[in-house]
Amino acid sequence: MQRMAGDWVRGRTKVGFVPTMGCLHAGHLSLVRRVRSLVGSKGKVVVSIYVNPTQFGPTEDFSRYPRDLKRDLRLCRGAGVDVVFAPGNEEMYPGHTGPSFSTYVVEEALSKGMEGQSRPTHFRGVTTVVAKLFNIVQPTVAVFGAKDYQQAAIIRRMVRDLNFPLKIAVAPTHREADGLAMSSRNKYLEGDLRKQALALWHAIETARAAVRQNAGSIPAHSLKSRLKQIIEREPAARLDYIEFFEPETLAPQTGVARGTHMALAVFIGKTRLIDNARL
Ligand code: AMP
Repeated sequence: MQRMAGDWVRGRTKVGFVPTMGCLHAGHLSLVRRVRSLVGSKGKVVVSIYVNPTQFGPTEDFSRYPRDLKRDLRLCRGAGVDVVFAPGNEEMYPGHTGPSFSTYVVEEALSKGMEGQSRPTHFRGVTTVVAKLFNIVQPTVAVFGAKDYQQAAIIRRMVRDLNFPLKIAVAPTHREADGLAMSSRNKYLEGDLRKQALALWHAIETARAAVRQNAGSIPAHSLKSRLKQIIEREPAARLDYIEFFEPETLAPQTGVARGTHMALAVFIGKTRLIDNARL
């Protein structure tokens, strides 16, 4: 069957969807432009804004995560978004404080390493809320950012495994002029911490240069310890993980060469930042 099942049900209007947690920045807006290009001027673009409690661990920043719905709505309007879906917790998780929400979507392979290891309940929250949002919005296509590389891979897998009738597209990471990946959490970086956060980008650049200068492959463990040293030269920086992996399967690699993917998570003070890139 060539036509997607969703097209039969929904007629010919294409619906493009960008799920977000709000506090929108230029990275989010690049996803909106991408989804508009995919659905065309006759299509509808939907953005969801929801800080999803089930993807935060008990000690994480759920309550202080930046929220600014008024500004987000203005940005969405300016970007030509047709519909903003900004539900409350009661709408997404009826009786969420009690036992009446008890069904989750769990991806069991790609979500084990990296973010999944550091944040054990994170991806269960992500796949569950994204599955719910797909059921509510019923998009033809949804766009995710390469900034959250592992997340995008898990969503692709979920859509394939559970036959969600939509296409997934992944848009490149949008960066500040100096290389810092845009993130709502960059708001936490006060004073000198903003400069120290460049440690993630410097680590990526260093790894890229190392790969360029080496004809063969570099042992992952030695490159990791070199990058850790570079990162932790910044007084507020503490490495959570660096992983080198195969970009399709996310399988960790012991040798690093051109085309290997790198992801890292670093605490800058209390703020945990992630980034990734193909080397
Ligand atoms: P968030 O609001 O952080 O949950 O992100 C919502 C979507 O925007 C996800 O698909 C992210 O991967 C994507 N995104 C976040 N930051 C960026 C960025 N700097 N460049 C591109 N996409 C991004």
